[in-house]
Amino acid sequence: MSEAPSTALVTGAARGIGLATTRLFLAEGRRVAMIDRDAEALEVAAAELGDAVLPVVCDVSRPDEVAAMGEKVRAGLGRVDALVNNAGVADFGPIAEHDFARWRRVMETNLDGVFLVSQEMLPDLRASRGAIVNIASISGLRASTLRVAYGTSKAAVIHLTKQQAAELGEHGIRANCVAPGPVDTKLALAVHSREIRAAYHDALPLNRYGSEREIAEAIVFLCSERASYVTGQVLAADGGFEATGIGLP
Ligand code: NAD
Repeated sequence: MSEAPSTALVTGAARGIGLATTRLFLAEGRRVAMIDRDAEALEVAAAELGDAVLPVVCDVSRPDEVAAMGEKVRAGLGRVDALVNNAGVADFGPIAEHDFARWRRVMETNLDGVFLVSQEMLPDLRASRGAIVNIASISGLRASTLRVAYGTSKAAVIHLTKQQAAELGEHGIRANCVAPGPVDTKLALAVHSREIRAAYHDALPLNRYGSEREIAEAIVFLCSERASYVTGQVLAADGGFEATGIGLP
């Protein structure tokens, strides 16, 4: 009897890094639950990818929607072997102008969403002795101006990942983080000014933005058996940013 193909759940899968990750998982024969709150974009993305994907509309910051999503994924896909908490939002601005509503919007998706989805999928991951990859950012590794909420949320995701690694290892679950450098996605286009873009190009050892695919490769590696003894780590896929000690622009 042949074994069922392995599965993955990717949040924020309708576009950007999440969509690129979905494509790589499909290429290695996994079936993928694509989770996003943007119903229209999700429908368009999933329609191109065929029967091996299960699109589920869900706002990861809402406990009721996350619980319903978990049920749909278990019914439609079966047990989840790999979880990629990728959904994220960015909002850059000076501390004085970051009112509480802006702060909360960032925290709700970037931090609460990782906690909620991981907790919902925990029984599956225990059963599969699976892997979690949370998407942080170089903004979570280094402080700089304008990123009070975004940078703090990503630093918290890094610590949450270490907590998961520490506590869930006994169930065979590995938890790691990918910290991307700048990537040309809708998210980056919204917050990277012309000055920020130019500064990144000059300062990064590789002198360019990364591609969605390059980040996805790091994510898929950490989910795979090739990383079977790696847990609690942050893999910076960042064009050399972290190695240089340069400041974030
Ligand atoms: P993107 O904006 O292209 O895609 C993000 C996706 O997440 C969108 O489809 C959006 O609808 C979805 N999403 C947002 N909030 C959601 C919610 N509450 N519930 C469900 N879905 C939600 O962004 P991206 O650049 O591909 O970002 C992916 C991840 O990578 C994010 O966590 C981001 O912080 C991180 N990241 C991006 C960069 C970059 O330069 N692009 C750098 C470092 C880290």
